[in-house]
Amino acid sequence: MATITMKFGGTSVGSPEAIQNVVSIVADAVGQGDQVVVVVSAMSGVTDVLLNCVKEAAGGNKWAYLSAAQKLRDRHEEAINMFTSPGADRENTLHEIDGILKQHSELCQAVNILGEATSRITDSIVAAGERMSARMVAAALRNQGVNARAYEASRMVLTDDRFTSATVQWEQTEANIRRTLLPVIENGIIPVITGFIGATADGHVTTLGRGGGDYSAAIFAACVDSDEMIVWTDVNGVMTTDPRMDKRARVLPYISYQEVGELAFYGAKVLHPKTVQPILNKRIPLRVRNTFNSAHSGTLIGPDAEPSTTVVKAVTAVRNVALLIVSGRGMMGVPGIAGRTFLATAQVGANILMISQASSEQNFCFVVTDDRADFAKHSIERELAGDIERGDVDSVNVVGEVAILTVVGAGMAGTPGVAGRVFTTLGDAGVNVIAIAQGASEVSISFVINEVDLKQAVIALHNLALEAVIA
Ligand code: ADP
Ligand code: ASP
Ligand code: MG
Repeated sequence: MATITMKFGGTSVGSPEAIQNVVSIVADAVGQGDQVVVVVSAMSGVTDVLLNCVKEAAGGNKWAYLSAAQKLRDRHEEAINMFTSPGADRENTLHEIDGILKQHSELCQAVNILGEATSRITDSIVAAGERMSARMVAAALRNQGVNARAYEASRMVLTDDRFTSATVQWEQTEANIRRTLLPVIENGIIPVITGFIGATADGHVTTLGRGGGDYSAAIFAACVDSDEMIVWTDVNGVMTTDPRMDKRARVLPYISYQEVGELAFYGAKVLHPKTVQPILNKRIPLRVRNTFNSAHSGTLIGPDAEPSTTVVKAVTAVRNVALLIVSGRGMMGVPGIAGRTFLATAQVGANILMISQASSEQNFCFVVTDDRADFAKHSIERELAGDIERGDVDSVNVVGEVAILTVVGAGMAGTPGVAGRVFTTLGDAGVNVIAIAQGASEVSISFVINEVDLKQAVIALHNLALEAVIA
């Protein structure tokens, strides 16, 4: 008997047809004698609806959040009615959903009265999506004879209080999960757990960042010592690029933890960037598979770097970023300017995605999301005011409308001429490279380019990745 942690994303639980597939997938595994731990996302689009409720409530639009709540109820009720028979289980499930939506309206009401939302109350409101979906999926499974029960991750995943993007406190979380779930598993019950959410030590609900359901599933997979983890989603696996960017994208049969980590960090939405962290040390194999095409074996993700015939395995991009350039002839040999710059950047909550330094030390540049760029610029100018006055630093400039383009592939480590080939490809496509950085792990190279060039740059580099898949 194997223990398999399965995570079903928003689209996978987003419609009655999709839930039908989820039920068959889980019931099949249970029928084969496997123990399954299920982690679910909110139905597709629900997290966005809930975030919009927060906004509307803060803006005084009571009608908007009340009517959204009614629509959410209708959507969950439709699925529950389709998958459960009339009777106590259906009634109880609908009753619980009503309870969650009642609390939702009360929380929105509080935001409405105050006229603003704290990140703490935002997380409590947003968590409703996963809380409803776990109950709905558990009921659908029970109706098919699977002994399933819904669980709240907030009772197990302990985090700090960085609401909307909380950090997991690992030791306590592991102890909580084992204490709660091992007896459940022992008794042959299939837990259906809310992804994406946790709670602080004093019980306030937190979320792990957008797309965090994958990360939650990996936490549960590691803590219950799963033999395997499967992320069920709406594509056949991890692909050579986002199929929405280039229709020619192909499924990669295998990719390493390290490679997929880079891919996710640099924008491939298929997995949350932190997903591999919890399962890395235990070397738990991770598969990405398609809920709507379960015959496809998907992508296997594991610890070994598979030698590849090509250097570029996949291409990814991050939009809505800006480049900050700190320059000045006098910076040469002045210790600490970079350190102080990054600290000033962190102080305004700007996350650095990529750093590049010219060997001359006359300037260095780094990338942050564009909504924080101006805050970061002013914070750096304040921090470096003395250096600017002395003339050691000339300027701090923001370059907007750029994107990060990243190529990933373990074969790049130690392969001479990779950067050259990639540069030539971009040059031939008429793409101007503004900055370049190679990760210390050497499994990725990132470029900053003008956003207008992104589409053709992706297509050009994607050709390199496709050469190998097709070969
Ligand atoms: P879920 O709701 O199941 O978590 P997401 O929408 O978060 O699903 O992630 C799946 C989506 O990720 C796909 O529909 C696809 O458009 C996008 N994606 C981006 N890059 C890749 C890639 N390299 N391989 C596969 N999918 C990708
Ligand atoms: N529902 C959350 C989101 O939309 C988390 C997830 O789907 O993984 O971001
Ligand atoms: Mg996702």
